[in-house]
Amino acid sequence: MQRYFVSKKNDKFILTDLDLHHIKDVMRIKSNGEIICVYDNKSYLCTITYNNSAYDIKILNECDNDVELSKDVILYQAVIKNEKFDLVVQKACELGVKEIVPTIFERSVVKVDNKNIENKLNRYNKIIKEACEQSHRQLLANIRPFINLKDIKEDDDTLKIMAYENNNDKHSLKNVLSKIDNYKKIAIVIGPEGGFTIDEVNYLLSIGFISVSLGKRILRSETASIALLAIIASYLEG
Ligand code: SAH
Repeated sequence: MQRYFVSKKNDKFILTDLDLHHIKDVMRIKSNGEIICVYDNKSYLCTITYNNSAYDIKILNECDNDVELSKDVILYQAVIKNEKFDLVVQKACELGVKEIVPTIFERSVVKVDNKNIENKLNRYNKIIKEACEQSHRQLLANIRPFINLKDIKEDDDTLKIMAYENNNDKHSLKNVLSKIDNYKKIAIVIGPEGGFTIDEVNYLLSIGFISVSLGKRILRSETASIALLAIIASYLEG
């Protein structure tokens, strides 16, 4: 069943023009057909009736499919090449991420300039909407504006994990995650193609991030994000 994130006006569900076109001309759902509308973190089985100039959505019943993770996961993802960052946004949504923060590191290969930031954020929001609809989520993940690594701040009720490729201290991911119940949120930081500088590692350690290894092999940045998010999602959902 097709699902769409909708807005509301005068107590009526409102579709974007693109979604109405998708329903009528791509999915060819007939008038009186059924769709699922997602609004305010809840999903509803609805019927849509339409003609050439208008449409109306009626709620049949609320669906109960709570697919969200039990804790908010915030991903500070290093700015990497466009198609790779797009992949991380899509997979992070499927894996239940709450927020994605594009983060600029010293060794980020991709340089960010102000003129293309708005286009990038618009593109990420489109990917988020499609990925959250496809994965039957009840809320849209949020993309935050670009930040520099030194702007990262998380409070004490957040479990702060840094995936560090040269990690050689004792923290194993398993024993870090075993502490998860003591925290409300989880924040993870994934470095760029060039990796972390020592200064960046020390900054994150100084604000409470725990450095963990994702194994003996060096993963691409996008692989590390997807792998760590999958491990956390699986750990939270037992
Ligand atoms: N250029 C670096 C690798 C950077 S990989 C080098 O050759 O050493 C990009 C990011 O993915 C890293 O900054 C880290 O956040 C993550 N990553 C990759 N492999 C990892 C591993 N084995 N353990 C933890 N994090 C890893």
